[in-house]
Amino acid sequence: EAKRAGRATWRFFEASMHGAALRTLHIQNALRVALHEEGFSLRFQPKYCGSTNELVGAEALIRLDHPELGMLAPAEFIPTAERSGQIVQIGQWVMRETCRQIRRWQTAGLPAVKVAVNLSPRQIAQADLVDTMIRIVRSEQVSCDQIIFEITEAVAMQDAPKTAEMIQAFQHAGFEIAIDDFGTGYSSLAYLERFRVKQLKIDRFFTHGLDAQGHESRAIVSAIIALAHSLDMEVVAEGVETPSQLSELRVMACDQIQGYLLGKPLTAEAFAVLLEQHRVRESIDAKPCPRPA
Ligand code: C2E
Ligand code: MG
Ligand code: MG
Ligand code: MG
Repeated sequence: EAKRAGRATWRFFEASMHGAALRTLHIQNALRVALHEEGFSLRFQPKYCGSTNELVGAEALIRLDHPELGMLAPAEFIPTAERSGQIVQIGQWVMRETCRQIRRWQTAGLPAVKVAVNLSPRQIAQADLVDTMIRIVRSEQVSCDQIIFEITEAVAMQDAPKTAEMIQAFQHAGFEIAIDDFGTGYSSLAYLERFRVKQLKIDRFFTHGLDAQGHESRAIVSAIIALAHSLDMEVVAEGVETPSQLSELRVMACDQIQGYLLGKPLTAEAFAVLLEQHRVRESIDAKPCPRPA
């Protein structure tokens, strides 16, 4: 009886292994095709100033347009790309396309914004990452200070001394750095002294916790904001979905807000419309210069 059950379990295991391996191969192949045939696209999620409500920039988020499965979110293909190493090439595509988009918006006369680009562990392990990114920015004629690289806290901590060195090299070139998903990586706060980045992005787990009954998330979020401000860093709250989360974050002087409440990830064209409105609002708000006496 036990033997039969064991065999059945094994067969099931074997079958699902086969399925998973097939799926991995299938996705790897789709990624290879996408790299050659423009199968990837970017969405841009707006980031807003916490105190003035102004649009301050965007985060670039990749999508894969799969011929059979439709539009896939990164969770469905980034882990495979990471394991296969394809993420290195995909990451270069993301950077090049982000820079081209920044140029297109500028050429259309839209205001300049900063765009955040996510970096994965495998990319960060590349010794020539900083040089590669500088080369892309130069060839696309974009200014380094228009790009913010996002590194997750957990990845930054894996080899903190090496990460600190890489962050410095990026900053030396003029790029800005944000620590993504902050609060989930169990890092020693002392590392913040060493990293000295532009932004901390509070993970949406804590943002959502602001709606809960207890005081834990509120205490953690306000502590992160106080610490960041004392070290001259900005705080971005991720995953803001409700008006009450937004108003609490404003009371806590959170610098920037990102989330479905204020804006979902948009196509480049839809984001251009936001930029256009931003320009209109600015020109309406702009007061005429007083005449010299
Ligand atoms: P992330 O960098 O933390 O990006 C934020 C994710 O939260 C995005 O999911 C975004 O669509 C989602 N999000 C934004 N606002 C809300 C909200 O109010 N509520 C909820 N529930 N979710 C919200 P997305 O686009 O599926 O990306 C997931 C992750 O995939 C990203 O997390 C990032 O780690 C990774 N990723 C995305 N694009 C790239 C890329 O170009 N390169 C690399 N290496 N990773 C990427
Ligand atoms: Mg991110
Ligand atoms: Mg994040
Ligand atoms: Mg995240």
